[in-house]
Amino acid sequence: MKTINDIHFIQQEIKLLKQNYKIALVPTMGGLHLGHLQLIQKAKTLADIVVVSIFVNPLQFGPNEDFDKYPRSLEADLAKLAALDVAIVFTPEITQIYPDIAQQTKVCVPKISDELCGKSRPQFFYGITTVVNKLLNIIQPDIAIFGQKDYQQLFIIKKMVRDLCIPVEIVGCEIIREPDGLAMSSRNQYLTAEERSLASLLYKTLGEVKDKILAGEIYSHITDEATAHLNQLGFKVDYLEIRNCHTLEAANIADKDLIILAAAMLGKTRLIDNMCVSI
Ligand code: AMP
Repeated sequence: MKTINDIHFIQQEIKLLKQNYKIALVPTMGGLHLGHLQLIQKAKTLADIVVVSIFVNPLQFGPNEDFDKYPRSLEADLAKLAALDVAIVFTPEITQIYPDIAQQTKVCVPKISDELCGKSRPQFFYGITTVVNKLLNIIQPDIAIFGQKDYQQLFIIKKMVRDLCIPVEIVGCEIIREPDGLAMSSRNQYLTAEERSLASLLYKTLGEVKDKILAGEIYSHITDEATAHLNQLGFKVDYLEIRNCHTLEAANIADKDLIILAAAMLGKTRLIDNMCVSI
């Protein structure tokens, strides 16, 4: 396994490999857990060479968010990646990716980037689309793999790739959960023991919302009730919405393929989760 932090060096390396091999990129911010590792396993089934990037992207954090305390565990991450026989790990410094961050050109996928998570995190998706675009340009992979846990992010990246004709296939992977249902996340480390015991109620509530959708209840009543229920349990719900899973437009009664999307604070930790429903 090669660990490379220099853009020019990795580009030279990839240029040679690209002539003979199919290359997959798995972008991460590190703090690797089983959710990340399944993306890598999927990548290995789809490509010859797997490149994993580890970069905590400052552009996607707001001024009062957790950029400074975001879990960084490079040594442990590298050990996990070596055990999976990853070919290349890209670990650039911030100054490599953003030599002049204040004047950085940004990539913006309009409208949807300002909804759901984008409403309370105004710069979030612009930071993500900008860094993913840069990573795709640097590595020029045939395939890039993302988790459905960040469903809105996956949707926005697919749209960016279509809109900008980027020659890469975007593949989504299912959500990996803890045994009690909590979606795995690097941020789960922030939870206190008490919060951790409550956290899986977010997943449980999504399951209840799904049951009520299937029972034919009115969507606005279902989401109002679920939001109130979670707030009563100690969460601070940012949003809990039912949308069309293909368009991410608000669901209407004729839609067959839906997705329930939620974000909530539990203490100082922001949790997100989602669940698909087919009627
Ligand atoms: P992050 O390091 O949080 O930026 O995540 C890197 C990639 O891993 C993203 O594509 C995430 O959607 C994906 N990911 C994170 N957690 C999970 C999970 N529990 N299940 C599936 N994919 C995940």
